[in-house]
Amino acid sequence: MISVHNEPQPTDLGDVRVANRAVVLRHVRVHAPCSRADIAAQTGLNKATVSSLVGELIDRRLVRETGLTENRIGRPATMLVLDGEPYAALGLALAADELVLVAADLAGNRLLTWRRALPVAVSSPTDTVRSVADLARRAATRITGGGRTVLGLTVGVPGLVDATGAVPLAAALGWHDVPLAADLRAALQDPPHTVTVDNDANLAALAEYRHGGHAGVPDLVHLTGGVGVGVGVISAGRVLRGGRGLAGEIGHLSLDPSGPRCTCGRGGCVEALLGLAAVVRRLLPDTADDGPVTDYLPELDRIRALARGGDPQTLAELAGIGRHLGHTASVLVNLLNPEAVTVGGHFVPLAPWLLPAARTELAARVLAPQAGGARLDASTLGATATALGGAVAALATIESGRLPAR
Ligand SMILES: [Zn+2]
Repeated sequence: MISVHNEPQPTDLGDVRVANRAVVLRHVRVHAPCSRADIAAQTGLNKATVSSLVGELIDRRLVRETGLTENRIGRPATMLVLDGEPYAALGLALAADELVLVAADLAGNRLLTWRRALPVAVSSPTDTVRSVADLARRAATRITGGGRTVLGLTVGVPGLVDATGAVPLAAALGWHDVPLAADLRAALQDPPHTVTVDNDANLAALAEYRHGGHAGVPDLVHLTGGVGVGVGVISAGRVLRGGRGLAGEIGHLSLDPSGPRCTCGRGGCVEALLGLAAVVRRLLPDTADDGPVTDYLPELDRIRALARGGDPQTLAELAGIGRHLGHTASVLVNLLNPEAVTVGGHFVPLAPWLLPAARTELAARVLAPQAGGARLDASTLGATATALGGAVAALATIESGRLPAR
């Protein structure tokens, strides 16, 4: 599906070179500015190999010399940093009520951030695929017009995604058996870049790991907020996927069997207590009067206004939701012992009112002292974590050492 965790297994000399190239790129990304001699000393690759790989990476504009030098025992060394500006990727998050698109280049610059309200949950998959393809095509045109090459598009979906990029089930979207990657490739008329699909929580976790407030923390859990609630797990620096890539489906864990009825038929599921639709229904009972909600952003603004104004009922409800959030986080912390749990989506704008209660509940429910060292924080990436993670995933083939096509 995506290759962030699939590093090339050396089987012949070409593969060895790909693997070594990945080592050099990773070293420069983490340690820049650094010299060729630094790379050789710290990776164990010999100097001639490093020199040859760096030459190739400079030629392809994946690495550049800074012009700065550092004197080591009288000898100046030219310093290297990542370039990557000629190469970009698109990440697109598909949610019940919106599309969010982020374009980023390999140097880590964010080139575009677009949101489009779209009633995905009440539209047909065919119409949604058309809208996704339109948005992706416009973004790709903008990026290539700026002189960059688009390497890939990765779409994040709140649901199960199989190895072919098909979506067997995305309840929050009302989808069953949608061959999304294949349909998108067809709608984009077999574009020159890759088109892949992944679970939204996996992509959001990847974005947190690379660009979030806890970037680089190797054991990290990200809880997405949306109509569906899912979990992306970074374990020892890799996305934890499970046997068939379906790990992280926490949305229908029942926290309170006598709680509100869930769409799955059970009671008190995480989604029925913490999902965006459940939160809005609970805090703004009048919203359903105008028919199904197709854009939740204005409703979240209303909740924030009530909370900021100190409305006692709103504050009490948010604290209650915060306790359920802490309960959910405690399950993850007891199970996985992460260093950080980040919450995304609608939990971000509501964080000032959710997190105090959530942290108290988390500490009370985790057996290890100080919640096993886990911090519970709102994502610093806001509502764009999944889309940004999509761009990160689409750039991963380069980071795994494969050169972009000429
Ligand atoms: Zn359920």
